[in-house]
Amino acid sequence: MAELYRDFKNHGKKIVAVCRNYRSLTAAQGIPNPEKPILFMKPTTAYVSEGANIKVPLGCELLYHEVELGVVIRKRCTNISPSEADDYIGGFLLALDMTAKDFHNEAKQKSRPWFLCKGFDTSCPVSEFIDKYRIPNYSDVGLWLKVDGIMKQESSTSDMIYPIPEIISYASKYFTLEPGDVILTGTPAGSGPVFSGQTIECGLTDIVSMKFPVVNTH
Ligand code: MG
Repeated sequence: MAELYRDFKNHGKKIVAVCRNYRSLTAAQGIPNPEKPILFMKPTTAYVSEGANIKVPLGCELLYHEVELGVVIRKRCTNISPSEADDYIGGFLLALDMTAKDFHNEAKQKSRPWFLCKGFDTSCPVSEFIDKYRIPNYSDVGLWLKVDGIMKQESSTSDMIYPIPEIISYASKYFTLEPGDVILTGTPAGSGPVFSGQTIECGLTDIVSMKFPVVNTH
């Protein structure tokens, strides 16, 4: 019972995601670093594991990949400080924050919510649970992503604007975080389109990697 968080896909209740959290990304987009973490949510029905496909959502013509380090919450917390955050980390995962970029652009333009562009089925491909001890220095771990074998994103979590303890602390001031909840910590520069028939492969240095075909079933 104590370690249900390890099975985050079945026991976590929410995915809290941060955007614009890498210096390389804000620099590439020519936008200022956010003055506080920008949060949104994905439903847990967005999870998909290796062996399954990433499905292009209905009507989407521009699906983007975003490789991210995910943090699994170990125990319930609310309003904790950054210095307390480590105790609430149960482990990690590798994740993709798949984004229907055309829907996203429209939502931003018209000041509409992001739920559809970020939360559709298969928008959160994930690795298995990674034990905490396997990533002792989570503030400097490499992450990479290839599309059809070509490197598109390659960075380190050391480039984050808001480090993981600060993100957990900030989120916990507004949302009670529970065992198995996942925090997606943002994507570095290089996010771009991926089309039906292509394959995404991504990893955390040599700790873990995963591969997903992209298909359009509509
Ligand atoms: Mg993202």
